[in-house]
Amino acid sequence: MTENNGYEVVVVGAGAAGLSAALVLGRSRRRTLVVDAGEPRNAPSAHMQGYLSRDGMSPAEFLAVGREEVARYGVELLRDRVVDVAREGDFAAVLASGRTVRARHLVIATGLTDELPPVPGLAERFGRDVVHCPYCHGWEVRDLPTGVLATSPLSVHQALMVTQWSKDVRLFLHEVGEAELTDQDLRRLAAAGVTVVPGEVAGLVTADDRLTGVRLADGTVHEREVLYAAPRAVPHNDLLIRLGAELRETPFGSYPVIDERGLTTVPGLWAAGNASGFAEQVINAASRGYRAGAAINGELLMADLDDSAS
Ligand SMILES: Cc1cc2nc3c(=O)[nH]c(=O)nc-3n(C[C@H](O)[C@H](O)[C@H](O)COP(=O)(O)OP(=O)(O)OC[C@H]3O[C@@H](n4cnc5c(N)ncnc54)[C@H](O)[C@@H]3O)c2cc1C
Repeated sequence: MTENNGYEVVVVGAGAAGLSAALVLGRSRRRTLVVDAGEPRNAPSAHMQGYLSRDGMSPAEFLAVGREEVARYGVELLRDRVVDVAREGDFAAVLASGRTVRARHLVIATGLTDELPPVPGLAERFGRDVVHCPYCHGWEVRDLPTGVLATSPLSVHQALMVTQWSKDVRLFLHEVGEAELTDQDLRRLAAAGVTVVPGEVAGLVTADDRLTGVRLADGTVHEREVLYAAPRAVPHNDLLIRLGAELRETPFGSYPVIDERGLTTVPGLWAAGNASGFAEQVINAASRGYRAGAAINGELLMADLDDSAS
C-alpha cells in the first residue's frame, strides 16, 4: 500500500463544491481534510435561489448544514487558508497558520471573486438591489424599473436576458461607446423594448436604504429600483498555477483544463465549482464536487490494489 502519513484527500474550499466532494469522500471512508477560509462567493445575498429543495435558504445556513453533514462521516474541517502548495510525492499544502498538511489527492474548490465596477455606492448594495445574475435574483426583482450597467458590449446580452423578468429595462452604456453596439444588438434591444441610455454613470441614488435611481455624470437621474451590473470574475486559480495545471482562457477568466470528472492536467489534482468554471451555480458546483469526490475514491482504490498486487 502507498505510504502516507497524512490525509488521503485535502479539499481546499468549503462552498457547495468542496463540501459535496467531502461528503462523498467521508461516506467512502476516506481520510479527508477540508480547509476553508470562510468567504463564499454568495455571502452578500440573504437568499440562495434555484437549488431544488433548498430554494430561498440563506447561503450561510446552507453551508452550515453541509458542514454538519460532512462532519458526521469523520471529515475534518479547518478554518484556515492554503497559502502555498507543492508536489513532493504527495501534495503538501501550507496553511496560513503555519501548519503543512499532506494528501495523495488535492481538490481545489476555491471559487472566485466578483470584482465590481468602481461606481460609488455599488459594492455596498451588491446582492440586494444591485445584482448580477437574473437566475439568482430575477424573480425577486421582477417587474421593477430595472437598469443594466454596461461594462462591455457583452452587457447587451445581460440587458436582453433581463427583459424576461421586467419589461421596464434601461441599458446604461456607461463606459461603452454607442459605436461598439452592432446592428444586431440595436435591433434586438429595440425588439425587447430596452431603452439605451448613453453617458457615464456617476453614482446611485438611495432612500431608506433602497435603490431609487441611477445618476449620470451630467446630473440626470433615472428612477430605477434595481440595477444589474456584471462583475469581473477573478478565479482563485493561484494554487492550480503553482502546481502547473494547464489553464484555458475564457471571457470570464482563466480556468483549469479538466476532464468530465474534474481532474486537471496534473495527476491527483482536481478542480470543482467556480474554481473550475465561471457559470457554476450552487447546484452545479455541488454536482461537480460530488463527481470529483466519487472519482477520487475510485482512483485511490485502484492505486492501492495495483500497489499491493505488484
Ligand atoms: C451575490 C451573489 C448571489 C448569488 N446567488 C446565487 C443563487 O441564488 N443561486 C445560485 O445557484 N448561485 C448563486 N450565486 C453563485 C454562487 O455564489 C456560486 O455558484 C457558488 O458559491 C459556487 O460554489 P463554490 O463552492 O465553487 O465556491 P464558493 O461558494 O465561493 O466557496 C469557495 C470557498 O473556498 C474558500 N477559499 C478560497 N481560497 C481558499 C484558500 N486558498 N484556502 C482555503 N479556502 C479558500 C473561500 O473562502 C470559500 O469559502 C450567487 C453569487 C453571488 C456573487
